Amino acid sequence: MPVNENFDPVVISEQQFDHAVCYIQKLKKGLIEFLKKPKHINIFNFPIEMDDGSVQSIQGYRVVHNRVFGPGKGGIRYHPDVTMEEVVSLAKLMTWKCALVNIPFGGAKGGVVCNTKELTENELRRITRRFTSEMADNIGPHTDIPAPDMYTNEQTMAWIYDTYDVLHPGKNNRPVVTGKPIDMGGSYGRNEATGVGVYHVTERFLSKALIAEQQTVAGASVVIQGFGNVGSIAAQDFFRNGAKIIAVSDSQGGVYRAEGLDPDVLLAFKNEHGTIVGLPDTMTMTNEEILELECDILIPAALSNQIHADNAHKINAKVVVEAANAPTTPAADEILRQRGIYLLPDILANAGGVTVSYFEWVQNQANQQWDLDEVNARLQKRMFKTVDAVFSRWQGFVVGEAIPSEQEINNTEPGQQPDFRCIALSIAIERVAKATLMRGIWP
Ligand code: NAD
Repeated sequence: MPVNENFDPVVISEQQFDHAVCYIQKLKKGLIEFLKKPKHINIFNFPIEMDDGSVQSIQGYRVVHNRVFGPGKGGIRYHPDVTMEEVVSLAKLMTWKCALVNIPFGGAKGGVVCNTKELTENELRRITRRFTSEMADNIGPHTDIPAPDMYTNEQTMAWIYDTYDVLHPGKNNRPVVTGKPIDMGGSYGRNEATGVGVYHVTERFLSKALIAEQQTVAGASVVIQGFGNVGSIAAQDFFRNGAKIIAVSDSQGGVYRAEGLDPDVLLAFKNEHGTIVGLPDTMTMTNEEILELECDILIPAALSNQIHADNAHKINAKVVVEAANAPTTPAADEILRQRGIYLLPDILANAGGVTVSYFEWVQNQANQQWDLDEVNARLQKRMFKTVDAVFSRWQGFVVGEAIPSEQEINNTEPGQQPDFRCIALSIAIERVAKATLMRGIWP
């Protein structure tokens, strides 16, 4: 990774925000400052009794960035490296993502500093219940709705729901969390939704014919970094629709096969060996190398800051589709833009997950469970509509119909053709800003 680039997630999200607001007209300066800041940050410290009788002090965070459109929405991650700064920047990303796909949620995020690989199931359950009780009425079906994130899953959500339900008896508390097990009010299609959404966003984007020789997924060569939930589900959809998956990777490294890889074969191998590396008839590569392969579609689906100032000029794809959160740095964005490589940003490309979380919340309110076809049809419709909105605003700038915001609004002169991240963010920020003023600033 380059030494001179700032990877601080707060700095990166501020840079992206500042750039995007240049493309919004008549946004009041004070409102810009308000939109940048989280609504509230809660830090919790609590003791947990370990299985061996010892006591460990645990720290957790829950941040609500904005609630103008509705309750906060965002995952809770369990990771030893979780910081408040990271949680704040991810909460902001959730605000823009929800606003972009037009769902009535604000942005939130949570984190607990712990290493799940070193904890037993009983210890994890005690941490989750205690964290939930510490958050108390900060979360709720109409205030702030958690979901799974890194190293939390449907079991974690079942414990959060159960704890909240014990503390709030006599109400329908199912909508307090999404990503629950199907038998406890989870939605069909939620587990697959992010990967499926990545596919739909790409499919719709290609149909806009910006890449003349690649207007459908069929026949496209695809490289995917990360073969977990999102990467493997997206791989299956691309494969089913005629794309050629030429390389994928996981934390151990990557595999390449010019003739294409079958995602089901990859999954079977990964289940047996714990990695895709070593799959017969493939060439082993490093994670860095697979990012630089010549392909039509490159999908980073693992970690943040993977495409940066030092490798952006080596990217050999026609379009980068950000399945992961924040895989591309602002410096890399600019290099890709100058090189004519399109990038579909995280708040658009991976919004399928929060969209189906919203469907779960709606089903829970009505005590219904939609079938998979209904969920998927609604998901596709919303993803297509969102791509259309971003594309049409972007086109407005390209053909010169739209005017960038005025100098007085903020001091940056855009002076350049915007990329899709900037456009997607500007749509989201504008929606939240308009709604804030429409509600009326209280008192
Ligand atoms: P996951 O844990 O299921 O999979 C992550 C994958 O990345 C694994 O295959 C892992 O081996 C691989 N990986 C780890 N380190 C790597 C490295 N250095 N190089 C290459 N691969 C590496 O996680 P997921 O749910 O698939 O999430 C992937 C990304 O998508 C994350 O950035 C997450 O924040 C984002 N995302 C996920 C969802 C969702 O619904 N799951 C929604 C929105 C965004």
